[in-house]
Amino acid sequence: MRICVLGSGSKGNCTYVEGENTRILIDAGLSKLEIEKRLSLINVNPSEIDSILITHEHSDHIAGVGNFCRKYGCKIYAHQYIWPLLEQKINGINLKQQVEFNNKDFSINEFNISNFDLDHDSIHCVGFSISNGKTTISSATDLGHITDDIIKKLYQSDLVILESNHDVEKLMKNPNYPYQLKQRILSNHGHLSNDATANAIIKMLGKKVRGIILAHLSEDNNTPQLAYQTVQNVLKTNKANSNQNLVIDIAQQRQVGRIYKIKE
Ligand SMILES: [Zn+2]
Ligand SMILES: [Zn+2]
Repeated sequence: MRICVLGSGSKGNCTYVEGENTRILIDAGLSKLEIEKRLSLINVNPSEIDSILITHEHSDHIAGVGNFCRKYGCKIYAHQYIWPLLEQKINGINLKQQVEFNNKDFSINEFNISNFDLDHDSIHCVGFSISNGKTTISSATDLGHITDDIIKKLYQSDLVILESNHDVEKLMKNPNYPYQLKQRILSNHGHLSNDATANAIIKMLGKKVRGIILAHLSEDNNTPQLAYQTVQNVLKTNKANSNQNLVIDIAQQRQVGRIYKIKE
C-alpha cells in the first residue's frame, strides 16, 4: 500500500491511498486543479482515481469533489446522512457515481473499508480504516474529542493520520479569533488539540502502529514544530520515546507530504 497526504488543514484536505489495483482519495477539499497538480507531483494520473471517500460535508473536505468527479467519472462514497446536503454542495453529480454507506464495512476492489463516528460540528463525520487484508491505514481528523473506541480502531493500523489541530494556549491568546469561535474549536464537537492528540498517541504505543502523521494543523493556532514537540514531550514524560521506532510526521497544508510505502 502507498499513501500520501496531498494537503491537510482548514484550507483543504486530501489524502491519496493506493493498493495493488485501486487508487482512492480520502476527501477532496482542495480545488480540482490543485489535486491534479499534487497528484502529478507523485506521478499519479488523476484519471486513475477510482473513488473518493468523504469524511463529512465541510468545504475543506469537499471543495474539489464535484469538479474532480465530473471530469474523471470517479465514484463518491459518503455516509447516508450527508448525501442530501452533499449533493447540493457539489452541485449535482451523476447518480451512478453516488455511493451511500452506513456504519457497516464496505469494499472497493481489494480494500476493505470501515468507518467510525467522530464527534464534530457537521451533520455526520467519520474516520476511515482501509485494509488490504495485510496492512491497514486509518485516518481521523475533525473530531472534538477522542474516545477509547476510536483509539482502539486506530491502533490496529500500520499508519495513522490523526488530527493535531491547535495549541490551546496559542488559540486562547489569538486576538483575531472571536470568543464563540474559540469555544467551538475547543468543544467536544470541534477539533483535537496537540495535547489531546499526544495523549491519544501514548495509548497506541506497543501496538501495531508504526507511523503517525499529525494532520489538520491550524495555520493560525499551531505550528508544525509545536505539534511535533508536544507529542515528543508527552512521549518523553511517559518514558516512551525513540526506542519505540514510532515515526511521527506532520502533514502540510501547502505541500505534498512524504509517500509512505507500507510493507506487509
Ligand atoms: Zn470539519
Ligand atoms: Zn476540516
